[in-house]
Amino acid sequence: MREWENNFRRVEPYTPGEQPDFPDMIKLNTNECPYPPAPRTAEALRELALKSDRLRLYPDFRAGALAECLARRYGLAQEQLFVGVGSDDVLSVAFLTFFNTEKPVLFPDITYSFYDVWAELYRIPYERPALDGNFRIRREDYYRENGGIVLANPNAPTSIAEGLDFIEDILKHNRKSVVILDEAYVDFGAVSALPLLEKYENLLVVQTFSKSRAMAGMRIGYAMGHPSLIRAMNAVKYSINSYTMNYPSLVCGVCAVEDDAYFRECCAKIVRTRAWTGVQLAELGFSCLESSANFLFASHESVPAKQIFEALREKNIFVRYFDKPRIRNFLRITIGTDRQMQALIEALKQIVKQ
Ligand SMILES: *Cc1c(COP(=O)(O)O)cnc(C)c1O
Repeated sequence: MREWENNFRRVEPYTPGEQPDFPDMIKLNTNECPYPPAPRTAEALRELALKSDRLRLYPDFRAGALAECLARRYGLAQEQLFVGVGSDDVLSVAFLTFFNTEKPVLFPDITYSFYDVWAELYRIPYERPALDGNFRIRREDYYRENGGIVLANPNAPTSIAEGLDFIEDILKHNRKSVVILDEAYVDFGAVSALPLLEKYENLLVVQTFSKSRAMAGMRIGYAMGHPSLIRAMNAVKYSINSYTMNYPSLVCGVCAVEDDAYFRECCAKIVRTRAWTGVQLAELGFSCLESSANFLFASHESVPAKQIFEALREKNIFVRYFDKPRIRNFLRITIGTDRQMQALIEALKQIVKQ
């Protein structure tokens, strides 16, 4: 080994879902939206192409226009908004900003698998209390001393959402550390913890444009919380790279937020398709956890998940399979269009009836 290699930071990186690119594939593996972003964003991109001279200039490092329209949308002050390059960026900055004690940060054993990657990267001690037998969070596990708490609500990949009382109970028991709620999937039928911001200055709510706003490719995420939390996050962010939000993203982000009717319609369509898919899957012998997200977490009564995953792949249908303890007999299936889900069900009929 070359001597300097001893000094490398060693990390086990997060593994994103694969991004295959076949002409007729059905891609249900990374919880993207099957519908295009708000029509106004396409128009904005065309206008940008004509004004590319604007790209000579640095973008607004405060992402002011976007923070302002998000603040208006959620009834908050602009000082309560932090904007970042996808919620992965926002969460990463939050970990670095808020988790700096010897006490462990707490998050469930089964949750978004980026949390332990950041904890390792930033050398933050952490513990992962196990979800119960029904894949629910046990609130008592979060009543103890800690260096911070991170919960995805709805949780991923389980799809299960907890209610506001549950979240508030955890906040009531945690007055001394920052509690981060990752609401990446909240728009598909869960209740947001935003109303609790007034009462709990240590609450940070994180959301993203990647799922419900159909803009995973634009990379926009945001956090909402007390101005003191947002100021602290910005200080850390500006100490790494001030200009993370590129100009086209800022422009398109504003367009997406302004078209609230389109946003609601997309979410409603996905919720309807989710209900239909759940019924069809049940008829084929699958059981799904109760979903409040844009995906279903499903296991079959007799055919192993891995076998189904591979058989679907053969048919150019991509879903997500996690070869991990407790969940290796589940498939995480993103809700696509009605036609995509019909094709999925037809394929599954052949696979599980054999
Ligand atoms: C998709 C997802 C994110 C990150 O999404 P970005 O594209 O980085 O905004 C964060 N948390 C959870 C639970 C997710 O599923």
